[in-house]
Amino acid sequence: MDYDIKETMNDSDDLLFDAKINAPVGLGLISGGLDSLIACLVLKLQNIEVVGLNFKSPFCICDKAYKNAECGLNLFYDKLGIKTYFLQKEDDYLEVIKDPKYGYGKNLNPCIDCRIYILKKAKLFAKKINADFIFTGEVLDQRPKSQNLKALRIIEEESDLKKKLLRPLSALLLKPTILEENGIIDRTKLLGIKGRSRKKQLELARTHDLLNEYNACGGCLLTEREFANRMRDYLEYSKNPTMEGVKLLKYGRHFRFNGSKIIVGRNEVENNFLLHLKSPDEIVMEASNVKGPVTLIQGKIEEEVIRFAASLTLRYSDAIKSQGEVIYGREPTLLNEHLTVEKAIQEFLIPYLL
Ligand code: SF4
Repeated sequence: MDYDIKETMNDSDDLLFDAKINAPVGLGLISGGLDSLIACLVLKLQNIEVVGLNFKSPFCICDKAYKNAECGLNLFYDKLGIKTYFLQKEDDYLEVIKDPKYGYGKNLNPCIDCRIYILKKAKLFAKKINADFIFTGEVLDQRPKSQNLKALRIIEEESDLKKKLLRPLSALLLKPTILEENGIIDRTKLLGIKGRSRKKQLELARTHDLLNEYNACGGCLLTEREFANRMRDYLEYSKNPTMEGVKLLKYGRHFRFNGSKIIVGRNEVENNFLLHLKSPDEIVMEASNVKGPVTLIQGKIEEEVIRFAASLTLRYSDAIKSQGEVIYGREPTLLNEHLTVEKAIQEFLIPYLL
């Protein structure tokens, strides 16, 4: 279920953290991975009511884990009866990527600022659904930059959750939260896991019949070099970058030529996505009378750009001869312009490839 949290309540209301809560409800940030699953399990085992919150974005690669392992968001409901809500990271997230206060990880991933962003949103959402506290599946020192002791402290302070953010997997290695101090959560039933190994988590998953095998999926597309390059280019050239615009970065081969962007589909699925995501001012191009890619041209439509895009379109088509014709236009069903060009050669296109 998608919620609009813009129409949220008074931000000065705090989460309860009240010793008199009879049946506290914890809102867990869940990625669909093993750590958040076990964090939920640990709380369920002490009879805490748990609901999940999952953030979606075009950067998500969590479905990889789902394909390769028995893990995924369905397990939270199927095995633990946990209802999950979904929120989108919105366009304001792009500001986080552009200028993260706490810097980047190995590529364009602003992990510390990203955690702060989602916790701030989660805090508003918790109030909306009357959850009493927030917890995460973070594990101390699992990621060197964003999950060390200092980073965990920064994250809870900057999201205004100092001593209020429960991390059930590493709680015994961290200072007690107010929830533990007030006896709402039994600290003795929390864990003291540290580091990258998921041995303990998997052991618990097996013991409680949640899953048998697990392949960690590691982050989001912003951690990947090729995608990060495309993203940097997108932020540099777009006047009004949007999360919708980011979706196009996931499909096709991308080239920047004379300030314009050319995207060439790699297969039929990508061709269909490009046509689906195309905006009205973009040009569509195809090879004439032969199977080949859908090419999109964004930005200034100059003759040189058209010629370059045409030579790429022909290169990645099934055309046998070195010279051939392409057709193009703004309306995919009416490509009534045409041009004859030579196929691009590898050395020529490499400098423009993103
Ligand atoms: S890997 Fe991506 S989604 Fe995960 S914390 Fe870092 S920036 Fe956010």
